[in-house]
Amino acid sequence: LTHAHLTNADVAQLDTRSVFHSWSAQGALKPLPIAGGSGSVVWDHDGKRYLDFSSQLVYTNLGHQHPKVVGAITEQVQQLATIAPAHANETRAEAARLVTERAPEGFHKVFFTNGGADANENAIRMARLVTGRDKVISRYRSYHGNTGAAIVATGDWRRVPNDFARGHVHVFGPYLYRSEFWATTPEEESARALHHLERVIQLEGASTVAAILLETIPGTAGIIVPPPGYLAGVREIADRYGIILILDEVMAGFARTGEWFAFDAFDVRPDLITFAKGVNSGYVPVGGVVISDAIAEAFDERVFPGGLTYSGHPLAAASVVANLTAMAEEGVVENARRIGTETFGPGLAALAEKHDVIGEVRGAGVFWAVELVADRATREPVDAATIGRLKAALLERGLLPFTADNRLHVVPPAIVTTDEAAQGLAIIDEALATL
Ligand code: PLP
Repeated sequence: LTHAHLTNADVAQLDTRSVFHSWSAQGALKPLPIAGGSGSVVWDHDGKRYLDFSSQLVYTNLGHQHPKVVGAITEQVQQLATIAPAHANETRAEAARLVTERAPEGFHKVFFTNGGADANENAIRMARLVTGRDKVISRYRSYHGNTGAAIVATGDWRRVPNDFARGHVHVFGPYLYRSEFWATTPEEESARALHHLERVIQLEGASTVAAILLETIPGTAGIIVPPPGYLAGVREIADRYGIILILDEVMAGFARTGEWFAFDAFDVRPDLITFAKGVNSGYVPVGGVVISDAIAEAFDERVFPGGLTYSGHPLAAASVVANLTAMAEEGVVENARRIGTETFGPGLAALAEKHDVIGEVRGAGVFWAVELVADRATREPVDAATIGRLKAALLERGLLPFTADNRLHVVPPAIVTTDEAAQGLAIIDEALATL
C-alpha cells in the first residue's frame, strides 16, 4: 500500500487494528485520518481540507511543514542523527542559547527533556533539592503532564534523592467567571485568591513547601487569563516564604499569547520556566527547564540526580534552533499579537453578542476560549452532547477544532493569516447557529 493509494477508511482501519490511543476508551474511537499539512491547513486521504484551529495539541505554533524547520531537521539527520546527552554538541548548545536569550536576565542554562511533563518533573526535582522541602502547590484547574512513577519504581541509587516524590497540595486560582471566592471584580478575585494561597501555605507549614507550580495562563483548563496583580502577588508570597516559583509555559509560551513567554505580559519573573510544544512547534518531541542562575549554581558542586536518554537530542535541538530563528525572522510573535487584538478579540466578542450559548470569551494572541453555557444567567455549562454536535458541525465545514469540557478553544498556529482567522470565525459563527 503506498501513501497515495490509501483512503481515509484504509488508514482508520490500520489505526484501529494496532494503535492504542491516549485518554480514551478504545472501542468507539473514530480518529480522523490526516495525510498532510501546510501552514494552518491539513488534509485527509480523501482530499478534504481543514483549517487547523487546534494547532494539534496546541503546539504547531509555526504551522505545519515550515520549510526552515523541515530543512534544519533534514540537515541535522544527515550530519549526526543522534548523540548522547553527556557529549558536547553545537546544535544543542545553540538551541539552549536561543531559549535563554528569550528568558529574562539571570537565566543562562537549559535542561532538555522529551516533552512538557518531564520538564515539570525536573523543575519540581530542582526545587525540592534546592529548598530541602517536598511539597508542591499547584492549582485545581491546571494540567502539567502525565508522569509520576518511574523514578520511584527505580531500584538503584537514582531513586534515593528522589524518594520524596509526594506532597502535592492544590489551591483554587482566580477565575472570575466561576469565582470560588464570591468575587465580582477582578481586583477582588485576585486579592482573595492570593489570601487563600497564603493561608494554605501557612496551614501546610511554609517550611514544607518547595515550589508553587503554575501555568502562566492555564491552557487546557480554560485559557484563564490571570487578573491584574495575581502573578505579582504569587511572586511576593513565594519570596516571603522562601518558595520557588515555577511557571509552566508549555502551552502558553513561544508566540501563543503574542509574547515569547506568556509571563512577559505580566509583572512577574519565575525561578524556573518549563517549556515544550511551541519551542519547536512539535516537529520532534522536546521540552525543557530554563534555570535561573541561583538554582543552576546550586548544582555546580552537587550532583543533579536527573537525566533522560534523549535529553537534548540533536534532531530536537535542530528543530528548536530553526523554529526560534524563523519565528524571529518572520515576526510570528507580533503576528499572533495582531491577530488577537485585531481579529479574534473583536470577532469573538461579536459572536458572543450574537449567540446566547456563549457565556464568556477570553484570551490573548492565538489563545482563546469560548465558554458555552446552557443558561447565561446560571452559567450552567453545556453538556458533552452539545460540544459533540458543535465539533461535528465545525468538521463538516472544514475546521479542525480543539474542545475541552464545555469550551471551544480558538488556537490556530501563530502564523495564521488575517484571512484564515476571519474564515475560521465565520465557520464558528455558522456552526454555533446550528446548535
Ligand atoms: N504543561 C502544560 C501547560 C500542558 O498543556 C501540557 C500538555 O498539554 C503539559 C505540561 C505536558 O506536556 P507533554 O504532553 O509534552 O508531556
